[in-house]
Amino acid sequence: MRKTIVAGNWKMFTDLAEANELITGLKNNFQNKNQIEVVVCPPFTHLSAVSLSLQGSSIQLGAQNVYPEEKGAYTGEISPAMLKSVGCQYVIVGHSERREYFHESNAFLNKKLQFALQNGLTPIYCVGEKLEERESDQTFKVIEAQLKEGLSGFSAAQLKNIVIAYEPVWAIGTGKTASPEQAQEVHAFIRQELAKLSDAATADAITIQYGGSVKPDNVTELMGKPDIDGALVGGASLKADSFLAIVNY
Ligand code: PEP
Repeated sequence: MRKTIVAGNWKMFTDLAEANELITGLKNNFQNKNQIEVVVCPPFTHLSAVSLSLQGSSIQLGAQNVYPEEKGAYTGEISPAMLKSVGCQYVIVGHSERREYFHESNAFLNKKLQFALQNGLTPIYCVGEKLEERESDQTFKVIEAQLKEGLSGFSAAQLKNIVIAYEPVWAIGTGKTASPEQAQEVHAFIRQELAKLSDAATADAITIQYGGSVKPDNVTELMGKPDIDGALVGGASLKADSFLAIVNY
């Protein structure tokens, strides 16, 4: 059975005081009306503090990135075991900002996914096309490559532990959301590709989130689509009110 998962990606926003305030607002007002898994992904520097503050709450903790090695001389990087040791259950892998600004390839992301899984983290693997790719009818081709190369070598059992986030790059932080029909079309395609990489039952069990300007006023319609099993939320996760309104859609 699929789990519905809504995650908040705080990106490089909030100082520690703001992070604490946001978490207090979330945990004091979170009723989990929809019985979904809610995840917050603060910057690395706040993970320990947020982890402590989330104790006793059903809100889960995720990181925004991870380095694909167990340990070593990788100045400035963070290993999967380090994330586990501060209470992370999730990690975002392959966000379009990392693909774009840090030139992370599908092959490198495949390594990150392997290390995350080996260490018991649930990766949220982001895929999505740029505007020019959509406009030149490349959407399915781009996403097919991101899935085939990024998920290469994983067994069906491993794939079940990966969450996919479909994030059209043109919809991230732009206020332009994919229409529920556009999103559903790509989600159904992703599920079909996942079935090719495993089998239909596995593909059906995988959570596929939509991300790209999800807001309280568009979440219900998006979540109403059969292949949309959650959301990856950026801007609207930075205010307790709007994130709570989304998770209580
Ligand atoms: C994101 O950061 O993954 C994202 C989807 O951002 P926003 O919700 O602001 O578009």
